[in-house]
Parts: sequence; C-alpha cells; structure tokens
Amino acid sequence: AATTTTTTTTTSSSSAMPSSKDQTRMRIERMEADRRDRRLRTKELRANRAEEERRNISLGNPGDVDFVGLVARWREEHAGSARSHEDVGDVDDGAMMISTSTSTSTTRGDKICVCVRKRRLSPKEVLRMEHDAVTCLHPTATVHSARLRVDGISKYCDHNTFVFDHAFDEFSSTEDVYRHAARPLVRYVCAGGAAGGDGSGNGNGVPRGTVFAYGQTGSGKTYTMGGIQRMVAEDIFSILAGNGNGNGNGNNRLDGNSVKIGFSSEDTAVSVAIFEIYGGRIQDLLNNRNRLKVLEDGKGEVVVSGLEEFAVSSPREFLSLIERGQNNRTTHATEANDVSSRSHAICQILFRDKSNAGWRLRGKLSLVDLAGSERGNDTKSHDRQRRTESSEINTSLLALKECIRAIDGGSGHVPYRQSKLTLILKDCFVSKLARTAMIATLSPGSNSTDHTLNTLRYADRIKEKKVCNSFAQ
Ligand code: ADP
Ligand code: MG
Repeated sequence: AATTTTTTTTTSSSSAMPSSKDQTRMRIERMEADRRDRRLRTKELRANRAEEERRNISLGNPGDVDFVGLVARWREEHAGSARSHEDVGDVDDGAMMISTSTSTSTTRGDKICVCVRKRRLSPKEVLRMEHDAVTCLHPTATVHSARLRVDGISKYCDHNTFVFDHAFDEFSSTEDVYRHAARPLVRYVCAGGAAGGDGSGNGNGVPRGTVFAYGQTGSGKTYTMGGIQRMVAEDIFSILAGNGNGNGNGNNRLDGNSVKIGFSSEDTAVSVAIFEIYGGRIQDLLNNRNRLKVLEDGKGEVVVSGLEEFAVSSPREFLSLIERGQNNRTTHATEANDVSSRSHAICQILFRDKSNAGWRLRGKLSLVDLAGSERGNDTKSHDRQRRTESSEINTSLLALKECIRAIDGGSGHVPYRQSKLTLILKDCFVSKLARTAMIATLSPGSNSTDHTLNTLRYADRIKEKKVCNSFAQ
C-alpha cells in the first residue's frame, strides 16, 4: 500500500519496473490485436445502427418520425466525411462547408487541445423514447435539434456543426480518447517539458499538463476521467522506467518514439493528491475529507495548505489511491442533490526531484472532473444553498474558460483569482510550460440538445478555430 508522506519526507522506494524488451513487444502486440478487434466490432455496430435507423423510419418511430428521418438523411448525406484520428492537417471538406479560420487543426505542439466525446444513448434515454440527436464525424460534432416552424405545425431540423481537434463518436474507446487527448500531455510533462524545457525545472519553469472533463451531468465526465486516470497510472511508470539508465534510449515507449531527456524512475519520485472543491470548500479526498485552505503568498505562489501527497512507486499503488479518492467522493454523492455533480474533483500527479533535498517539483499533471455544466434552472431554485452553489459553479466554469483562452493568447491578463478552482490551477494557466486538454462530454439524447449545444459552444469558445454552419432543411 502507499505510504503517507508530506512533501518533504517522501519515502518511496525507487523500485524499477521489470520491463524487458520482450514484455514490451508482447504488450504492443496485444494492444494491436485489441485495436483490430475493436475496429471490427465498431464496423458491426455501425451497420446495426444504420439498420435500426432504417427500421425506425419505415415503422414510424412513435417518438418523432420526421425528426428521426431528417437526422438519418443528414447522416446518409455526410457518411464518409469522418476522418481518421491519426490524420493531422487542415479540415477541408467541401461537403460540410468547414474551414479552419484562425489556426490549423494540428494537435502536435499545440498548447490547447479541445476534444468532444459522445456516449451512446443510455437505457434510460431509450426508455424515454429519446433518439440520438448528436453525430460525431471526426473532427466535427453536430447537434440535430427539432424545431417548429412559425406556422406551429411543420417541423424542421436544425443541424449545428462544430469543429474540434478531435471528435470521438460513441464507438470510440476511452483508450482512443486517452491516446489523442491526454497522452501527449503525459509525455510532455515526463519529458521535462520537451521543447522549451530542459527537464531540470530550472529557468524554464516546471512543465504542467492539465486535462479537464466538462459537460452536463450524466454525459460521461467521471467515466472518461476514471479511465484516463487508470491509463495515466500505467503510462507514467512505463515512461519513467524507459527513461532510466538501464534502458536509456526510452525504447520501451508504447509507440517506439524515444524521449532522450526527461524524468526517470532513478531521479524522479511520483506522488498523488486528490481533492474536491464543493460549495467553496476544498476537501482532501485521500485524508478524511479534511478541509483545506488555498493561499497565495507574496511571490504569487499558490499552495493548498494541508493537502496530503502520497508517494507511489507502481501503477498498483496509484490505482488504489484513485479508488480511495473515488470512494470518498461517491459515499457523499448518495446524499440529496448528488454532490458529485456539484463538485470539481482534482487528481494531481507530482513529479519530484529525488536528488534534491527539498524534493523540488519537476512536473505536474492535473486531471480534473468538473462539476456538471447544467446550472441554469438551479438559479431559480427556492433552496438558497443550492442557488449559491450553482452560482459558484457558474462562476468557476466561466473563469476557467477565460483562463484557458488566456493560455493560447500568450501573456496578458489571466483572471485566475475569480474562483477557487482557477486560483488552485493558476500555474496551469500562467506557466510558460503549461499544456491543456479539454474533453467535452456529450449526452446524445434528443431531450438534452440544448445542454449539448451549450457544451459545444463552451468548448468552441476555448479555441476559436471553427466556422460552423447552421442550416435548416
Ligand atoms: P458524469 O460524470 O458526466 O455525470 P458519468 O461518467 O457518471 O457522467 O456517466 C453517466 C453514466 O453513463 C454512467 O453510468 C456511465 O457508466 C455511463 N457512460 C458514460 N460515458 C460512457 C461511455 N463512453 N460508454 C459507456 N458508458 C458510458
Ligand atoms: Mg460525475
């Protein structure tokens, strides 16, 4: 089990991962086989969906036959326009009338990566006769909303398309999301900030990678972030072992790309802290929900005082901490008003210099499961506490958007003091070596289209790079 430590008395062992070349090769082969399987399954599922849609149209879906038909027609017209996630380059698809206005869709080297992930219709949504009103054709996401014409009788379908760095459809796995959205940040931090950083944490600052999950409650934030946390746990120890002296060329990296500079298990200790921000309170999820304070000192350094950091030296130790954090969060969530939808949960992975007496920070990864983005109705609620919480959530999500946008703009004003969330994450916005990924999760149900549109607009504003076409038919 993990050892409880504070930042200055870390006692982790420098246990190296037993990672021979053979093991790595077997792992790669297994992953490739998995990927092939998944592609096949995906193809089958797509065929089934098309069949289902045809059936719905011919039987007359009791929900809304016009709508389902219009969406199906739109999908038929745009079938084949999806790109592969491996493709990098400008979006230039005449059929969708998309152009990239301010920047290219290159994710490599970008400071901000904005992705969307759609889940499948849930059994509940199916029971409610909702239909699938979202289409992800990478790199685009489209919401199909049913609208009534002014005559009040005839319906039409509004299709709103947005372009992102990645759009993951309902057939994408969390591994796909991890590979494209989070892993580049993990690699960047473990390489000591790669381009621009010297790995020493000196002068060039400390590399920081932050991954956010944003979306309506029930859209898949915790599902996606949970999977990403597990993959990070595996990945960092494999990267650190690969950067070590025993295997200095880093060849046991999953993709064979070598990282010559960077942290290794010999020189870098890994520790984990997990906490949540709920109604203005900061609570340690690895330490009895202890209440914590956030302080900004005269030098502008922000510390969460009292936050416990746990040293981890294997994926297993890391995973048991994640589980503990999740349990601490969900126990609470069974109470009224589902606390988990009203709190931000933050998992931080800290890389510290073992050779330095003060265990100086060398890099940091933050994985953030944000509070549900649907807050509009709560502001009319009669429950005062609920209203206050909601307005706090609104404030923090708005501040977050502005802070992330400020990363892209270089220097300038970063309004991080506007909320506890952004204050705690200050360095993720102001550091020159900060990189961010935003994963907006989407509920596909036709009853959620307004929330889904809001989510897409939020994500879109973070990186103004789309020209969206909204047209009726
Ligand atoms: P949120 O954290 O945004 O409120 P959850 O992550 O709890 O939403 O997801 C809501 C439900 O949907 C859960 O039962 C979860 O298992 C399921 N779910 C979410 N995303 C996916 C997905 N991509 N594939 C399968 N099930 C999913
Ligand atoms: Mg959740």
